Order: sequence, then C-alpha cells, then structure tokens
Amino acid sequence: METKQIEKVLKAPAPHMVGDGFRVHNFFPSGYKINMSPFFLMDYGSKIEFSARKEPRGVGVHPHRGFETVTIAYHGAVAHHDSSGNSGVIYPGDVQWMTAASGILHKEYHEANYSLAGGPFQMVQLWINLPAKDKMGKPRYQAVKQADMAHFDLPENGGKIEIIAGNYRGIKGNANTFTPIELYNARLNKGGGATFNFPEHFNTGFMVIEGSIKINGSETASVDDFIHFKNKGEEIKIEALENSVVLVLSGEPIDEPIVQYGPFLMNTEAEIHQAIEDYNQGRFGYLEE
Ligand code: MN
Repeated sequence: METKQIEKVLKAPAPHMVGDGFRVHNFFPSGYKINMSPFFLMDYGSKIEFSARKEPRGVGVHPHRGFETVTIAYHGAVAHHDSSGNSGVIYPGDVQWMTAASGILHKEYHEANYSLAGGPFQMVQLWINLPAKDKMGKPRYQAVKQADMAHFDLPENGGKIEIIAGNYRGIKGNANTFTPIELYNARLNKGGGATFNFPEHFNTGFMVIEGSIKINGSETASVDDFIHFKNKGEEIKIEALENSVVLVLSGEPIDEPIVQYGPFLMNTEAEIHQAIEDYNQGRFGYLEE
C-alpha cells in the first residue's frame, strides 16, 4: 500500500463570527481554495471561553437547501430547532447530521445551561454536498450520540477511533450517507498510533482538534492545523505526540457543477433562483425567532 502524501499543513485562517455564538475559522471554501468535495465547507470553531449569559448566543432562523450540515461538538453544547418540529442538543462528543435536502429553516444557539454557566466552546460544522438526484429529497436528521457511537479500540491502550460515518477496520459508523464518506474522531493517547486507508481519488483531510501528531513518520501538526492530503497513495499513519483528538475526513468527490448562494448549494443558477423564490414565498415552512 502506497503512502498518501501530505499536500500541505494549513494554519487556521482568521476567525469570523456566525451570529454572536460561533467564532469560526473557515478552512474551505473561503480560507483555502482546496478541493475537498463532497465536503463543501468547513467552519472550525477553535476553543474559546464564552462568559456566562442568560440569553443564549447563537444564530437566528435561516434556511438551507441542497446539502447536509454536520455539526460535531467538542466543548460546550449547541441547541437547535427547525421548521419541521425537530429539536435537540449536541453535547461534547455528539454529532448532528442534518440533511437539509429540499429545505428547512432552523436556528442554532448555545444550549441554555451551557450559556448560563459559560465556559469553553469548540466545534466543527461541515457542509456536505448532495448529488443532484438527492438535492430535492426529504429533509432528515441523524442524531449520533457519543454514547452510542461505533468505535474501534486501538492496541496497546493507544486510544480509540469513533466512527461517525463510513467503516474503520470493519466497524461501520452510525450515520447513513448519500455518497461514500468516511468521518471519524480519532482520540489518541500519547504514544498511540493509528493507520488509515482511503482510495486515492477520495479527498482527504485531518483536523487537529487537540494535541499534536506526527503524520507518516515525518511531518508534525498541532491543535488548530488542518492536514490536506494529495490524491496519491492510500495509507496514512499518525502517532500522537501527546493526548490528541483528530477529526478525520475522507470522501468520494461529487463530480457535478456547483452553484452556491449563501445557504443554498445547487447545480444551476436556475435552481438558486428557485430556492430564493421558494424561501421568499414561505415554502421552507415557518419557525419562530
Ligand atoms: Mn444552519
């Protein structure tokens, strides 16, 4: 098996606020022009301390169409409500996999008790593209709680791989996906190691959430770095230089045209105009601010 080479270790771009609750570094598509399809966008909320506040910070009612949002919490807690009556809380270690598809309205904000207490907050939100044939499908939710998450225990007390989606060493992740996607949290103890194998043509990147790691026995990366791999070779080896958490992303690219306008991700301009019209006509439903 050939080693998958590193394209580049990318530093976190300057952060910006989404609403008043999410301070995020956009690694792509704005921060770096890298092709990570089917992952269209990654907002990384590096660890920040929020002061206690009675009124939860967050982002108000907004629509999505044509893709999935995947929210992964590491510190703090995110609550959400949507126009189809779904709501929930994403606690540290949990993942919310929301298929917006034909469209929803939702709001995302700090969970009430977390907001009252304040404290560290760290999360990732991915926008995962959908193939054209699934863009106007029915919205759905998959709440993947850490307690129920499939995992693989690494040898020699090296830590564990939590499999959010895809398959690691024959263990299948909980989330169902529309296209082939591998998404894991590698939680490594100092000195622990793990090996991954992804097809050459899959776009692959590792986000270092905590600690620092050595990749393929040579380069190192530390907290808040994103390691972007080449579409060459299959095997990646990592070793934890201290207790570390790494978000592992790999997926088969969706080879279709993309037109993005704000929270809509479609294939053509006409579909974007339709999304705007449907939104303005109230066809995404209703959600109280
Ligand atoms: Mn949203």
